[in-house]
Amino acid sequence: MNARPESPDQLEHLRSLEQEARREISETDAPQALVEVRARYLGRKGSVSDLLRSLGGLEPTERARMGKAANEAKARIEEWVRQRRTEIDQEQREHALSGRCQDVTLPGVPFVRGRLHPVTRVVREVVEFFVSMGFTLEEGPEVETDYNNFEALNFPPDHPARDMQDTFFVEGGHVLRTHTSPVQIRAMTGRQPPFRFIAIGRVYRHDLSPRHSPMFQQVEGFMVDEHTTFADLKGVLYAFAEHMMGSGTDLRFRSSYFPFTEPSAELDFQCVLCKGQGCATCSQSGWIEWGGCGMIHPQVLENCGIDAARYQGFAFGMGLERSAMNRHSIPHIRLLYDGDVRVLEQL
Ligand SMILES: [Zn+2]
Repeated sequence: MNARPESPDQLEHLRSLEQEARREISETDAPQALVEVRARYLGRKGSVSDLLRSLGGLEPTERARMGKAANEAKARIEEWVRQRRTEIDQEQREHALSGRCQDVTLPGVPFVRGRLHPVTRVVREVVEFFVSMGFTLEEGPEVETDYNNFEALNFPPDHPARDMQDTFFVEGGHVLRTHTSPVQIRAMTGRQPPFRFIAIGRVYRHDLSPRHSPMFQQVEGFMVDEHTTFADLKGVLYAFAEHMMGSGTDLRFRSSYFPFTEPSAELDFQCVLCKGQGCATCSQSGWIEWGGCGMIHPQVLENCGIDAARYQGFAFGMGLERSAMNRHSIPHIRLLYDGDVRVLEQL
C-alpha cells in the first residue's frame, strides 16, 4: 500500500485555525465571551472538531498523524483558554480594587465622633439626679436686675456682703448675675409652696486670677414646705454627693454667713483621692470646698410673697467645674474654657 503524502492543505488549515484561536482568545476580556470562543473551535460543532471529522478519507498513517496533530492543537487551545480565564479573573479583581468599585472587605475609614464637653456631662448628671428627686428645672436670664440678684436676696444697697461677689455691671442698672440665686426669686414670686426647684447656668464674677474664671457654672437647689428642715437639706446633699462622687462620700458643714440663708453653712466634701488623709489636691486638709447652703432667710420668703411664719425651706448652690476637674484631673479651670481642642480631645 502506497503511503499517500500527508495533506499539506489540511495541516496548514489546522495551523491557521490554531493561530486564529490564539488571537481571539487573547482579545477576549470576559468569561462569557471566552466560553463562546472555546465553543467555536473545540465544541462538538467547532472548527477543529469539523477538521477531525474530515480526516476519514485519508490514508490511515496520515490520518493518525493528522489526528495526533489536531489533538495536540486542541490541548494547546484548551491551555490558552485556561490561562486567559485566570488573567481575566485577575484583571477584574484589580479593576474592583482600583476605586471604581469599593471593596467592602477592606477596613473602613474611621469616622471621628465628637464628644460632650465635660461640664455639659456634669450638668446632665446633675439634672438627672434632681429630676429623680422630684425637683423641676427653673431658668432665669444671665443679665439680671439688681433687685433679683441682690436686694430681694437680702443684700440691701451698700451692704458689705455685696463685696463678696465681684460684680460685672451692665448699663441700665443691671448686672451679670453673680450666682443662680436670683432664679429663687423668679421661681418663688407668685407661687405658693410646697415646691422644689433647681436652677443651672452660667454666672459671672469679676475675678481675673488665673486660678478662677470670670464665668463659671452653678447649680442651685431650693425646696419650701411647711416642715422642711436642715435635716432634709443634709439628706438631699448626701444623696447628691453619692450620685456625683460615689457611695460613702462624706460631707462637712461649716458655719458661715450668707445674707439670704439663716443659718448658713459652707459645704465641703471629703477628698475622693486621699479619702480624707490629706494630699496635694485637697491642700493636705482632706476636704474640698463644694458650695454653700442653709435655710432660706424668712425675709427672702416674705419678699416673694410667701408666709414665712407658715413655710420654711432650704437652698444650696455650688460650682460645677470642680466636679468635671476632679473627674478628669484637670489642674486649671481655664483649660475647660480656653477652647483648646487638644485638651478636650483627651477627656
Ligand atoms: Zn486629698
